[in-house]
Amino acid sequence: MDKASSHLAPPETPRAFGFYLDGGFVPAGERETFLRTSPGHGVPVTSIPTCSAEDVDTAVASARAAFEDRRWSGLNGADRAAVLLRTAEIIRRRAEEIAYWETLENGKPISQSRAEVGGCVGMFEYASGLARSLHGDSFNNLGDGMFGIVTREPVGVCGVITPWNFPFLILCERVPYILASGNTLVVKPSEFTSATSLILAEIMTEAGLPDGVFNVVTGPGRTVGQAMIEHMDIDMLSFTGSTRVGRSVVEAAGKSNFKKLGLELGGKNPQIVFADADLEDAADGVAFGIAFNTGQCCVSGSRLIVERSVADAFGRMVADKLAKAVVGDPLDEATQIGAITTDAQNATILGYIAKGQDEGARLLCGGEALDLGQGQYIAPTIFSDVTPSMSIAREEIFGPVLTILPFDTVEEAIAMANDTEYGLAASVWTKNIDKALMITRRVQAGRFWVNTTLSGGPELPIGGMKASGWGREAGIYGVEEYTQVKSVHIELGKRQHWIE
Ligand code: NDP
Repeated sequence: MDKASSHLAPPETPRAFGFYLDGGFVPAGERETFLRTSPGHGVPVTSIPTCSAEDVDTAVASARAAFEDRRWSGLNGADRAAVLLRTAEIIRRRAEEIAYWETLENGKPISQSRAEVGGCVGMFEYASGLARSLHGDSFNNLGDGMFGIVTREPVGVCGVITPWNFPFLILCERVPYILASGNTLVVKPSEFTSATSLILAEIMTEAGLPDGVFNVVTGPGRTVGQAMIEHMDIDMLSFTGSTRVGRSVVEAAGKSNFKKLGLELGGKNPQIVFADADLEDAADGVAFGIAFNTGQCCVSGSRLIVERSVADAFGRMVADKLAKAVVGDPLDEATQIGAITTDAQNATILGYIAKGQDEGARLLCGGEALDLGQGQYIAPTIFSDVTPSMSIAREEIFGPVLTILPFDTVEEAIAMANDTEYGLAASVWTKNIDKALMITRRVQAGRFWVNTTLSGGPELPIGGMKASGWGREAGIYGVEEYTQVKSVHIELGKRQHWIE
């Protein structure tokens, strides 16, 4: 698909995908299929098989066989790196196709999908280097009779359950790092956004990944996802999604095989703005932080904690910025804010907007669904006169809804920022280095931004504190997370006998 060639439009008929097993697509056959409707256009765009628990068993068995015979973990790091680099090249070549299906199923702007796919190329490239540099440790200080080695080994068969908000990006923040050390995988994308995970499977086979190392099962979380979290032969599971399902993942791990878990869950992330910030920059950053991906972003800056002396003026600055953002057809190059991805999420966001008004908060802008003739869209919304106890200030809305909370002192700003069960991300805007560093140290968040927001790269780890999750993805941290450590004690020379 050529970016410059044409005005993009949804397909005439839905594209039928199979699920991916042992190096090839398995057509739906007798299975039911899920017809995914584009949230931006209201027309069906993909047809995806609904896998059964038996299909999950088959996929796990395929990944297990690929792990046990060492067709991947037994390769040297350079050979694994070569496959990851070739994957990066093919993603680059097929970027336009991936971006197109991502936008159709998710509703995000095509320009954003393209940028995300570009970021995913970098993930594979960076992880390829880590496949070569991953190493253990040695202890040469144990006396002449003993030498100690610490090795890192792959965990084994890894399950990955991904959500619908960044289907390709979240996948690529995990897969290359998981593969770098030699693990094998079974992936379950959200039923609403399976296409690009399946395209990645095809790409990886073309890149030379041995069959069975990367499998994709499709279907709903309550059946296919549930079968994965309860599975006795998945050694580690990475789950990204709601805190509610995250709790059942933890319970299921305890009731099954105590699989190791990586969890990236919800957030109610503070944007702390001081009066001494570059307020023009901060207003742009805060607008971006809440409206990017229509706020359906675990790291969205949804709580604006702003110094009282500038709170009213700054709220208006952010509202003015948002008024200029282009909401529209996700396939249009000019669009900055696309559609709401699922019907359920659309209803949830509108429900919170009504609740905010009922609770006495004041609408500064937005607050309504937008009728663009097709699809489902919500205007970026700001609430002022918010108190910390209101549900719009406490609960993750996962939509373009910003709440403004004024503060008077640095201590108060820190307390307000930490007054949440979550600890995923936070931003601070100030030109005072002392304040910036103090806030960075004391606000509990796995990702922190100073005078910017939502930036990242393959080097920096991703993950949360508190109820936002366990473990870290991406970077060397993401590779190490999917390894297990073995201590090797080597006795040198003649043993001193216990029984003479
Ligand atoms: P879920 O937690 O339900 O979905 C996330 C993933 O888990 C999807 O692949 C889903 O599959 C799967 N899943 C659902 N139920 C189970 C289960 N019982 N066992 C195993 N896997 C399961 O999120 P929602 O889509 O319902 O979104 C609800 C809320 O979650 C949002 O409003 C937001 O607050 C939060 N969320 C947070 C995300 C993040 O990035 N941290 C991402 C998405 C949501 P399927 O979609 O096919 O049912």
